[in-house]
Amino acid sequence: MILRDKIISRAQGEGRAYLMEHECKEILEKQGLSTTGASAVQTREEAVELSSRIGYPVVLKVLSPEVVHKSDAGGVKLNLKSAAEVERAFDEIERAFAGKKLAGVAVQKMASPGLEAIIGVNRDPTFGPVLMFGLGGIFVEVLKDVSFRILPVTGKDIDAMLREIRGYTLLKGYRGRSVDLPALKELLLKVSELVLCYPEIKELDLNPVFLYEDGNIIVDARIFLDETVPVDPISAPERERTSLRGLFYPESLAVVGASDTPGKLGWNVFDNLLRHQFPGKLYPVNINAKTVQGVPAVASVHEIEGPVDAAVILVPAAHTTGAFRECCEKGIKYIIVESAGFAETGEDGKDIEQELQELAKTYRCRFVGPNCSGIINTQHRMVQSIGTVGELRRGNIGLIAQAGVYAAGMLWGVRHTMDFAIVATIGNKADLNETDMLEHLGEDDHVEVICMYLEDVKTGRRFVDVAGQVTARKPVIILKTGRTEAGKKAVSSHTASLAGNDLVYDAAFRQAGVIRARDNEHMFGLARAFSRQPLPGGDGAMVISYTGSLGVATADALSMNGMKPAELDGQTHRRLEEILPPFVGPQNPVDCTFDLHAQQLREIIEVGLQSDNISSFVAILQAEILQTYVEELKKIDFRGKPILLCVPCKEFAISEVITLEQAGFPVYATPEQAVAALSAMRHYAVNKCEQHC
Ligand code: ADP
Ligand code: MG
Repeated sequence: MILRDKIISRAQGEGRAYLMEHECKEILEKQGLSTTGASAVQTREEAVELSSRIGYPVVLKVLSPEVVHKSDAGGVKLNLKSAAEVERAFDEIERAFAGKKLAGVAVQKMASPGLEAIIGVNRDPTFGPVLMFGLGGIFVEVLKDVSFRILPVTGKDIDAMLREIRGYTLLKGYRGRSVDLPALKELLLKVSELVLCYPEIKELDLNPVFLYEDGNIIVDARIFLDETVPVDPISAPERERTSLRGLFYPESLAVVGASDTPGKLGWNVFDNLLRHQFPGKLYPVNINAKTVQGVPAVASVHEIEGPVDAAVILVPAAHTTGAFRECCEKGIKYIIVESAGFAETGEDGKDIEQELQELAKTYRCRFVGPNCSGIINTQHRMVQSIGTVGELRRGNIGLIAQAGVYAAGMLWGVRHTMDFAIVATIGNKADLNETDMLEHLGEDDHVEVICMYLEDVKTGRRFVDVAGQVTARKPVIILKTGRTEAGKKAVSSHTASLAGNDLVYDAAFRQAGVIRARDNEHMFGLARAFSRQPLPGGDGAMVISYTGSLGVATADALSMNGMKPAELDGQTHRRLEEILPPFVGPQNPVDCTFDLHAQQLREIIEVGLQSDNISSFVAILQAEILQTYVEELKKIDFRGKPILLCVPCKEFAISEVITLEQAGFPVYATPEQAVAALSAMRHYAVNKCEQHC
C-alpha cells in the first residue's frame, strides 16, 4: 500500500530532499517505533520547560535542513542535567550555527547506553529498496560487518540477516548479556514496511539505534527523499508470463541464414541441428541457396508451408529487423536471434534492438538474444550452438549463460564430465532474460540442477522471487562476474549492461537460497556433485585415503564447512578391524597408505554404509591406479548416501577421470574442492528442509 505523509509532502513543497531528525522520528513513531523523541523548540525558555517535562538528563541537537552530520559541527549536546546546562547548550548551538537556517533545537531524553546498531535502507538500481543491518561504531566503520536483504522481507529473512553478521554473538548474548532479538526483528520489519509504504524515501538511516535486553530505541534518524518517485523493480510492469515450451521443445524450426559454406556461423548452427538429429521439421532459409547441407532451402519463411514453432536468425545485424518481421508475420512465436552487433556495439545496434522489441510486442512473440548462442536441449536433440558441438549425452544439468561464446566454448570440453539437459544462452536479453529462463528450467523435470553464468540481473525483485521458488525444488548455482569496477567496465562494453552492487547481489542470492560460485571450476564442480549424487542426510562423513596428509586435510575441510568426520561406533570399529590390514588403525579418516586397492576400498565403504553416523563418503584415490576402481565402485549399493572422489594430479589421468565421472562418481583435484561440493549439498539439504519441513 502506497501512503502519503504530510511531513514528506511539506518537505517536498519546500524543495527539500532531506528530512530533519525530528521529522524522521515523528514518522517512525507513527509506525509504532520507539525513539528518543521528536520535539523541537525555538527558545531557550521552551527548551528548559520541555526538559523538565521530559526529565533530566536530556539531549539538545541542532535542527537544520542544512546540517546533515549534527555532532561534527558541535550540534549535539549530551547528558544535560539541569536547567542551567540546558540554557548554556541552547546558546552554544545557536552561536555555532548562526550562519545556518535553523528549524529549531531538538530536546530529547538521554537514552541509557545499549549495544549500538545501525539500520539503513537504500535503493539499488537493480533490486530496489535494500535493508541493511550492522552493529555500530567500529563494527560498521572498520570491519564493514553489515548484512543486506532485498525488500520486502519475511521474518525468516531477518533471522538470516542477523545471523549473518560476524558480531552476531554480541546480539545473541555474551557474559550473560543479550539483546531483545524479537524486538529488534520487529523494528527491522517495521522499517521495511515504512519504506515500502513511502516510495519517496530514497535513503533511510537510523544511526545509532540502542539495543537493550528489553526493547530498543532509535537515537538518531535521517531520511533522504527522491524528487521523482522511482519505479521499483518490484512494481515495474512485467510482460505477461508465457510458457516457453515452444522455445525449448519446438516441433518445427526455421534457420534464417543457414549456410552451405563451412566456417560460417550459419553453417555451424545448421550442422549442429542435423548432426544431433533434431526430431522436428527443419527449414533452412537462405536467399542464395537451393539447398543447405543437403536440405532443400527456401528464400523466405513465407515460402514454408504450414506453421513453424520457432526460428533461429543468423543474418548480419543490419538485416535482422527484416528477417525478424517476416518470422513475426509468419506467426512464429519464438525467435532466437544469434546475430551479434547490437546494443553491445553502440547506438545503431541499440536502435535495431528496440525495433525487435516493438515487433515482438506487436506480434505477441518472445525472443532470445540478440548476440547469443541459441538453445541446446539434449532431451529434444536440439543444438543451436554457434560452435560445432560433438556428441552430447542426455543429462540433467541446466546451464543459463549470458554470454554465447562462453557456453559454446566451454561445452566442447565439459561435455565429457557434465551431462546437460538444457543450455540456454541469453545474450543481450532484449526480451527474454535470465529470470524467464530460470523459471522455465525450474519447471522442466529433465533439469535437476541449474548453473547460471551472469553479468547482471535485469528484473531485481522478480529474480529473487523466482529463484526462491526454484531453489525450493532444485539447486541453483550462480557465477556472477562484474564484481569489481574493472570487471564492470568490461561488462558494459561486452553485453551493454551495468552491473549492480556486488554486496547486494550477494544478499539477493542468499535470500533466494542460491549457491554463489567463486569461479567456473567451482560452479562446475558443484554441478557435477549435485547432478550425479544424492544429498547427504547428515553431517558425518567417512574419509578413506591412501595418504594420511590428505585425509587430515579432508577432515579439516569438513570441520571448516559445518560437517565432520563421522564418529565410528563400536560395531563399525570392529568390522573395520576385521577387514583392514594390521598396520591400519580403524579410525576416521581411514588411512590405508598404498594398500588402498579397489577391493579394499569397496569393503571399507560397505562397512561404512552400515553405520547411521556415516551419511557420506570422501575417498582419496591414487591417480596411478585409477582405472582399477571404477568396476568395484559400481558394484556398491550406496543406498542414497553420496560419495565424492579426490584424485591428486587428476589432470594427468584424464581418461580414467572421465570414465569415473561418466559412471556417476564426481572427481576433484583437492580435498578442499571435494568437501566444498559435499558441504554445499549438505547445506542445500538443510536449507530446503528448514524452508519446507
Ligand atoms: P549525528 O548527526 O552526528 O549522527 P547523532 O544524533 O547520531 O548525530 O548524535 C551523535 C551521537 O550522540 C550518537 O551516535 C549517540 O552516541 C549520541 N546521542 C545522540 N542522541 C542521544 C540521545 N538522545 N541519548 C543518548 N545518546 C545520544
Ligand atoms: Mg547519527
